[in-house]
Amino acid sequence: MTRPVFRFAPSPNGPLHLGHARSALINGALARASGGRLLLRIEDIDATRCRPAFEAGIYEDLAWLGLDWERPVRRQSQHFADYRSALARLEALDLIYPSFETRGDIRRAVAERSGWPSDPDGAPLFPFPRAAMSAAERARRVAAGEPYALRLDMARAQALAVARAGPLAWREVDAAGEGTNIAADPLAWGDVILARKEVPTAYHLAVVVDDALQGVTHVVRGADLKAATSVHRVLQVLLGLPAPLYTHHALLLDAEGRKLSKSIGSQSLASLRAEGVTPDEVRRLAGL
Ligand code: GLU
Repeated sequence: MTRPVFRFAPSPNGPLHLGHARSALINGALARASGGRLLLRIEDIDATRCRPAFEAGIYEDLAWLGLDWERPVRRQSQHFADYRSALARLEALDLIYPSFETRGDIRRAVAERSGWPSDPDGAPLFPFPRAAMSAAERARRVAAGEPYALRLDMARAQALAVARAGPLAWREVDAAGEGTNIAADPLAWGDVILARKEVPTAYHLAVVVDDALQGVTHVVRGADLKAATSVHRVLQVLLGLPAPLYTHHALLLDAEGRKLSKSIGSQSLASLRAEGVTPDEVRRLAGL
C-alpha cells in the first residue's frame, strides 16, 4: 500500500499563529495515525510580502511543536518553471487571457452595477467579459509592456472540464473519517487570476501543480479554503492531475468571532513561546 501523503503549506508573509499550529498539528496527527508522510511546503510566490525571517520562524515554530517533516522542503519560488509549463498547457487550450484592468477599474465598474455578485471570498467577480477585447488587442498591449494578470476563462474551463470528466466534485473527509461528495461550483469564482506579468503563478495554480508533483493524497487545511477547492478541481481535470482527498477543518476564532490572521495581529507562536506557553498548552489553545 502506498503511504498517504499530507502537507502543511504556509506562506512566509508573517509569523505563524495558533490557527497555523492547529492546521499543522492536525496534519501531523493524521500522518502519524495513518503511517503517512508529512511534507512542508513554503508558499512564497509573493516576493513583495514573503521574508526569509518568517520562513526561518516557520521551521523553528514547527520543530518546537514537535512536528517532523520530510526534507528537502519545496519552496514555490524555486519552481516557477513548473507553473509556467502548466500555464502553457492551459494557454494551448485557449483557456487563459491577459487582462489589464486595475483594482480601481474593477471597483468602479462594479459600483455602477447594483447587485453584482461576489466570489466566495467576498471579492467582486471580474466584471469585464473576455469577448470585450480582441485577442490581437490583448497581445498588442502585452507586447507593449503593460502590466497584466492572466485569467482563467472560467466558463470555457468549466465546460471543457465537465466534457472531459463529467460533473465536477471532490471527496471531503470529515474528522471522523467519513467521506462525502461535494459538487464543485467554479463559476462562483468567475475568471480567477492564475499568474501576473512578473510572477508566473498565483495561489490556485501553484497549489494544484505542487500537490500533484509532490504526490499529496490528503489535503488538510482550514475551512476558509474549502470553496477554493472548486477552482482546484477544474484545474486538476484540465491539467490531467489526480484529485487528492480533502479535509477542511474548522477555524479557530478570536474572542470577537473573527478568524485568526496576520492582518488582525493575532498573537504569534513565537510570542506565546516567549511568554512560557508550552507546546502542550498550544495544542489545547488550538482546540486539539
Ligand atoms: N498557503 C496557503 C495559506 O497559508 C495554504 C494553502 C493550502 O493549504 O492549500 O493560507
